[in-house]
Amino acid sequence: MRKKELLRQWDKSYIWHPFTPMQDWVANEQLIIARGEGCYLYDLEGKKYLDGVSSLWVTVHGHRNKYINRAICQQMDKVAHSTLLGLGNIPSIELAKKLVEITPKGLNKVFFSDNGSTAVEIALKMAFQYWEQLQTSNFKPQNITKKNKYQQKTKFLTLVNAYHGDTIGSVSVGGIGLFHQIYQPLLFKSFKVRPSLAEVARVIRRHHREIAAMIVEPMVQGAAGMLLQPKGFLKGVRRLCTQYDVLLICDEVATGFGRTGKMFACEHEGVRPDVMCVAKGLTGGYLPVAATLTTDKIYRAFLGNIEERKTFFHGHTFTGNPLGCAAALASLELFEKTKLLDHVRKNSRLLTTLLRPFRSLPIVKEVRQCGTMVGIELGPFPAKLRLGHQVILEARKRGAILRPLGDVIVLMPPLSISQKELRRLLEITYESIRSISKVGT
Ligand SMILES: *Cc1c(COP(=O)(O)O)cnc(C)c1O
Repeated sequence: MRKKELLRQWDKSYIWHPFTPMQDWVANEQLIIARGEGCYLYDLEGKKYLDGVSSLWVTVHGHRNKYINRAICQQMDKVAHSTLLGLGNIPSIELAKKLVEITPKGLNKVFFSDNGSTAVEIALKMAFQYWEQLQTSNFKPQNITKKNKYQQKTKFLTLVNAYHGDTIGSVSVGGIGLFHQIYQPLLFKSFKVRPSLAEVARVIRRHHREIAAMIVEPMVQGAAGMLLQPKGFLKGVRRLCTQYDVLLICDEVATGFGRTGKMFACEHEGVRPDVMCVAKGLTGGYLPVAATLTTDKIYRAFLGNIEERKTFFHGHTFTGNPLGCAAALASLELFEKTKLLDHVRKNSRLLTTLLRPFRSLPIVKEVRQCGTMVGIELGPFPAKLRLGHQVILEARKRGAILRPLGDVIVLMPPLSISQKELRRLLEITYESIRSISKVGT
């Protein structure tokens, strides 16, 4: 059998794909990617596709970027991995300094991990432990179990439709029924509110003594289908959190590194979170590196004599991986060298123009955009029609890879995409939606 056929067969035999109805997967022809170049991916047959979703929201400067490739190779010639448990390594030190410099003021400490879910998990544990350990600094052995007035702060406040990852902790602060419902018995309880300041205020006023932190995806809830928050919401949340001693965790895993037109989405409302999670675009989309940043104030609650047991006992084996950190440093250098944020802002404006005609397509319900994060909602149609899925199959025929969220067609191209490529991506998307319009009507 030819190698290509074997690969298809082995994929079906051996791989359990994430977020994938496997019965359906094995019954259909899969698309297998062999290589990438710039904003294009190439399949086994050599057919070329525009990468319309940045390989699941991560690719920043395109695939096989020479500058990042070189940085990884150079680091590989020094050391591929060395742990941060009890040792330091050079790229992680340089990256931490850089992250502190580019993130909102006050975030001065960087805790590395390897993906968005763990970055969130770390934020939750940090927030919880912070309140446990606050004001217990007058250490006396007999006081070790004594409660401070903040120790009832053990719960979290989150938004309906939130998505913060797939580990049990991050699912506990999630709110997407389809993904999260089944795990209910395993989860800790969180307060959930709609993205309305009045509701946030009501719950915080009533329950702030029990709430360690509020977690939000700033400006736009990605996995929920690119749901936009009202203007002033994030700023209002910050004000309420400060007023009622609730920490604010901003999950910038999707929105971070330029996607919304600012380096971080918090900047749109001048918000400084107490804790910030980054992952996806951090390494330019090359390697799994994530970080949880926090303030000196939170960090200080973890200081003390060994006997005080204030240490943050958390760490992943590949934390601060030198290859990943080298890729991230190179990616951040490229942001400056290529003036990427200016390019993103131009692309965002072009997108706004190009999206206008979509609104008059009969099966389009709503078009949402924040920078270069776009959700085109179809319907409403019964889920079993899988209209979103049908659109992306049409897009493949026309040379673009998309991935829907239910019946929301997501566009999130690499930040470096040229205006010509962007026009082409929108043409393909438009034609693909139009071609299935008959099905829906
Ligand atoms: C993708 C995502 C996560 C989870 O990141 P993983 O790397 O997939 O674990 C968390 N939060 C948000 C907002 C995300 O978009």
